[in-house]
Amino acid sequence: MIIRSRTVGALAVKAYIIGCPETREAVIVDPAGSERELAASIEKEGLHLIAIVNTHGHPDHTAGNALMKKLTGAPVLMHDADDRLFRDPSVATFFRAWGFEPHPPADRYLSDGEELRVGALSFRVIHTPGHSPGSICLYGHGHLVTGDTLFVGAAGRTDLPGGSFDTLLASLRDRIASLPDDTIVLPGHDYGSTPTSTIGREKRENSFLIQAITLSM
Ligand SMILES: [Zn+2]
Ligand SMILES: [Zn+2]
Repeated sequence: MIIRSRTVGALAVKAYIIGCPETREAVIVDPAGSERELAASIEKEGLHLIAIVNTHGHPDHTAGNALMKKLTGAPVLMHDADDRLFRDPSVATFFRAWGFEPHPPADRYLSDGEELRVGALSFRVIHTPGHSPGSICLYGHGHLVTGDTLFVGAAGRTDLPGGSFDTLLASLRDRIASLPDDTIVLPGHDYGSTPTSTIGREKRENSFLIQAITLSM
């Protein structure tokens, strides 16, 4: 599996290029800045972009959708809850104050349990609401792309529109903690002591995950 990461945009989002070495098909996750450089590196590696995937609809993660789509022709995929919420006029006004315009409508929605095929690779869409209603993780081949649901040593804030701390803990407990301990975590920001981690390490060290696991609801 080909995995490349680059920190992009005003709020230092981690964009990931994930490609199939056999077919050269690839997806890009949250290309939220440096779109021309990302598109050039995809081309340089001989990869064909089949989709732009957003882990969630926060505008710091979707800011590059329009230009990336224009440069590559690839469709934009995200969960419908975030596509709707973050284009809602009142929510768009909230984020416009931070300098972000709402994203253009997604081309296709990702739903929980769906398998996203990338050449010979396949990734399961796991709906993990909490940080936002339409947050998703991508799980496959021993890796979990977590967006802002889970960071190394932390988890995403829940004070933005549509966020819920209780829902985030439930997602961490029910959807994330049960994954194999050796699963490599690829977070949406590099906020921890290392750029990546494993589910096992986070279950031991991450206070959010520890709290989620011990929670009975
Ligand atoms: Zn976010
Ligand atoms: Zn973020």
